[in-house]
Amino acid sequence: MTDDSSQIFTMGTVFTVRVIAQENARDALLAAEEVLNSSDRLLSWRREGSAADLFNKSHQADVSEIKDLIETSLQISRDSSGAFDMSILPLSQVWQFDKMEEEDFDPADMEVPAPEKIAEARSRVDYTKLKFDPDSGVLSSEDPEIAIELGAIGKGYAIDQALAVMKESGAKGALVSAGSSIGLFGTKADGNFKVALRDPRGEISDYVGVLEVTDCSISTSGDYERYFEKDGVRYHHILDPSTGYPADSGLMQVTVIGPSGAVCDALSTACFVLGLDEGIKLADQYNVLAIFVDKEKNIWYNNSDVLDILEIVSKEYTMHEYNQKAE
Ligand code: ADP
Ligand code: MG
Repeated sequence: MTDDSSQIFTMGTVFTVRVIAQENARDALLAAEEVLNSSDRLLSWRREGSAADLFNKSHQADVSEIKDLIETSLQISRDSSGAFDMSILPLSQVWQFDKMEEEDFDPADMEVPAPEKIAEARSRVDYTKLKFDPDSGVLSSEDPEIAIELGAIGKGYAIDQALAVMKESGAKGALVSAGSSIGLFGTKADGNFKVALRDPRGEISDYVGVLEVTDCSISTSGDYERYFEKDGVRYHHILDPSTGYPADSGLMQVTVIGPSGAVCDALSTACFVLGLDEGIKLADQYNVLAIFVDKEKNIWYNNSDVLDILEIVSKEYTMHEYNQKAE
């Protein structure tokens, strides 16, 4: 067995790829890198000629190359009643959290946008104005103000694609991580992959627990990934399209575990915005495992199967099964 890994910077983040193979680990790794780069070219609204860029410029674009992703995005937009909304771009551009990824970024540069600006941007966010024709692969809107951004689902999608090519190339096991989204299959020489569940109020290396898993995707959304503080208020990058402000649903973190990286990625964002009660319903509807951490440091899970894969190591947090919650 050979075990090889690499890091690549794409989609505004660092991806770690690890592959375990009989002999051709390097080839599988290179194939995965190519897929991650091409996902960026296809999805990123900043990239000239990407599906998102073409749609945003002409309100009508052939997106058949990413048909499944567009259908999943629309479906989760609907099923979450717009808590996840793929037409978030006007709002995310007003908040500009992506500035925080730039090298010379200074947190003091971040500002709370004027309420009128937020209200104006929010009025332009509406996935119901998007039309997708699965036969022609054309995404369109009659409203020229509508613009799409796939940031909350794209990394999960790219991970799915990268794992698929590595599987095809005969790899025995692989893991692709983009920090908050991870996908994996198979095992390592010494057993299952282990994935840490970050402590939402700790240092970057602190974790509340460890997931031991195989053949699944794990996506986490939290209010600590990208945020700034002004006058004692935390402003983070997961936006609630119904208010125009960072989601304030009583949660610090949501983790979703399931077979599809794209679905888990979008659902972790949607569940974070929806909050515990509605988020649990959405997770159940999609038949995924979900772990919610609220601001009181309670950890809620939707399904007792979570207990088989999660070991909590922090004494500060307490676990509860959601259906045992007192009304
Ligand atoms: P991370 O990038 O930290 O993994 P997410 O997967 O939750 O976090 O996605 C962040 C991206 O989602 C950003 O590009 C942001 O603009 C976008 N976004 C923020 N709120 C929403 C929302 N309610 N619906 C869809 N996309 C969103
Ligand atoms: Mg997401």
